[in-house]
Amino acid sequence: LSFDQMGLKDDLLRGIYNYGFEKPSAIQQRAVMPIINGRDVIAQAQSGTGKTSMIALTVCQVVDTASREVQALILSPTRELASQTEKVIRTIGDFMNIQAHACIGGKSVGEDIRKLENGVHVVSGTPGRVCDMIKRRTLRTRAIKLLILDESDEMLSRGFKDQIYDVYRHLPPELQVLPSLSHLAFSFNFALFFVMSSLPIPNL
Ligand code: AMP
Repeated sequence: LSFDQMGLKDDLLRGIYNYGFEKPSAIQQRAVMPIINGRDVIAQAQSGTGKTSMIALTVCQVVDTASREVQALILSPTRELASQTEKVIRTIGDFMNIQAHACIGGKSVGEDIRKLENGVHVVSGTPGRVCDMIKRRTLRTRAIKLLILDESDEMLSRGFKDQIYDVYRHLPPELQVLPSLSHLAFSFNFALFFVMSSLPIPNL
């Protein structure tokens, strides 16, 4: 499967090729189409296999830039990963004029408020700061259609479960949910599914 065969927007394809990608990695080949078609997908891959780029390109495909509302929310366990994902989205989505913002602790709240009030399509953040922005009503959630829980196993092991649920409670009921996992150990994943299934997220 090539990028051309994925039915991606022309401006997004330009962004992908301009970024230097020639063909999709294994996880991109398997996950992109089902996600774009609206399925809830659990993607499991170790870091460095193209997972961040997979998230970035699906987000770019799903967002409607004619609207200035937040349509995709990505939660990550660390500030670094949240910023990295936001950067890849901005680079790949450059030709589409995607506005993305990293909502992370340790940065000025004033800057978050200014950016969010100007209108962004995508927010990539850590659970604490994102939760804070939602409660301040600075981050408007009504148009969010895609929730990505990046490295959800890592987020749970860092004790973010309550904050993730807090965010989730504020999201529209018609939501596509995409958890990604970073670890391969089967027994760990079994435990994870047990924990995740206690979150009221549909189709898990
Ligand atoms: P990621 O796991 O998305 O952070 O990707 C790991 C590294 O592989 C990064 O340097 C990406 O830019 C690169 N990469 C991801 N997907 C592709 C692709 N389809 N073709 C070439 N390089 C890629």
